[in-house]
Amino acid sequence: MPQLAKQDRCTGCMACMNICPKGAITFVDDKEGFLQPKIDQSKCIDCNLCEKTCPEMATQFHWNEEPPAVYAGWNKLDRRISSSGGAFSSIARFVIERGGAVYGATLDDKLNCRHIEVDTVEGLGRIRGSKYIQSSIGLTFKAVKKNLQADRYVLFSGTPCQVSGLLSYLKKDYPKLITMDLVCHGVPSNTLFKKYVEKLENRLEFAENEHVTNYEFRRRDGWGESPSISTTGSNCRKIKGVNGLYMSAFDKSAIFRLSCYACHYAKPNRVGDFSVGDFWGLGHQGVPFKHDMTKGVSLLLVNTEKGRSIMKALDESNFYEQRTLEEASVRNHNLTKVSRMPNNRNEVIEAFMDDEKSLDSIEDMHHLIDKSLKARLSALSDTLGIYDLLKKIHNFIG
Ligand SMILES: Cc1cc2nc3c(=O)[nH]c(=O)nc-3n(C[C@H](O)[C@H](O)[C@H](O)COP(=O)(O)OP(=O)(O)OC[C@H]3O[C@@H](n4cnc5c(N)ncnc54)[C@H](O)[C@@H]3O)c2cc1C
Ligand code: SF4
Ligand code: SF4
Ligand code: SF4
Repeated sequence: MPQLAKQDRCTGCMACMNICPKGAITFVDDKEGFLQPKIDQSKCIDCNLCEKTCPEMATQFHWNEEPPAVYAGWNKLDRRISSSGGAFSSIARFVIERGGAVYGATLDDKLNCRHIEVDTVEGLGRIRGSKYIQSSIGLTFKAVKKNLQADRYVLFSGTPCQVSGLLSYLKKDYPKLITMDLVCHGVPSNTLFKKYVEKLENRLEFAENEHVTNYEFRRRDGWGESPSISTTGSNCRKIKGVNGLYMSAFDKSAIFRLSCYACHYAKPNRVGDFSVGDFWGLGHQGVPFKHDMTKGVSLLLVNTEKGRSIMKALDESNFYEQRTLEEASVRNHNLTKVSRMPNNRNEVIEAFMDDEKSLDSIEDMHHLIDKSLKARLSALSDTLGIYDLLKKIHNFIG
């Protein structure tokens, strides 16, 4: 009987399901809505491939040995429509121009988050944008392998534990495989997210046939952080305060998968060829950054020789300036530290999962919204549109 990672260590990477030759592994929700592996004994032939492939059971975390080269910059074509500066698009365009396939997370109109394949520049729109939910990998790793065996370029982008799961599954390097991990704060479950959206629809007093059909976790027009929704009956609108309680709980690390609080990947030695994140600390340490930061700036870590050779081959639609790891780490805690589990994590998750509880009652019990003066000023400057002005002044004085 194979042993898979225990519930508090399983990252949900799904490498075990992809490797199983008998299709004996499926994933089911636990009580917090996180997908957990389940073995069907009647199909299992005890080959133990799943156990040997599981990064947690085999303690194979695929860290690169060298420290990364650090860049701040953007893709000029996609900066405005990306989460940070579009570093993902820089590498994705490189792959698509060479006839390759790109894998990333999409959110469908039923609000299911899962990995998909795209192979056109237009298709990238489906996977651009951060979805702060655990994406389901499904059988993506098998599809990646098929493309690599057909000698196509492949870019796989995901959380570091997903990249690690893919590398365990593939077992060897392929010259045309490019991996990109995210600087990762942690992931809530898709089921909890959907329960939150139901509560939001109730709070906003939606008609019975009106539903949220898209949830943008961040306004994609710079570094903006306010989430927004589109519904069957209306276009995009921003949500704030108690309506945005999910993002407040996310920021406070209150609703993550248990494995996230013991994450092996919150360190500068990364898993992928590239790592991407927000360059929050840019200009706050060492050399000032003398370029326009108002439209968002990516943190791009180049971790391997393969990554370095792709960086050299990027075309003129990309702008990247080399910076330091100290500067990258100064305001990006998950580059060096694991997210800390708050004492009330279990109760917060229970409250979100409880159909009887409203968003107001969850906030009353758990005080997830930051009501400090700094947070209020930041919300006010966002509302009044003076955020960009402040950033311009910051740029000017360097
Ligand atoms: C759950 C999560 C936590 C994060 N935590 C941090 C953090 O603490 N600090 C930080 O600096 N950055 C964090 N990021 C990364 C950041 O939000 C941006 O995704 C990143 O900077 C890429 O920006 P971009 O402009 O290059 O990408 P975009 O063009 O906007 O593309 C986003 C990329 O992320 C992938 N992606 C989106 N959602 C998911 C998901 N749920 N699972 C796997 N892959 C996904 C997409 O497939 C795409 O490749 C996090 C992202 C996610 C999804
Ligand atoms: S032991 Fe083999 S057959 Fe059984 S679940 Fe694991 S991979 Fe599948
Ligand atoms: S391979 Fe991934 S999903 Fe499967 S048990 Fe291990 S950590 Fe969990
Ligand atoms: S915090 Fe770690 S374990 Fe959690 S999703 Fe991110 S990489 Fe995976």
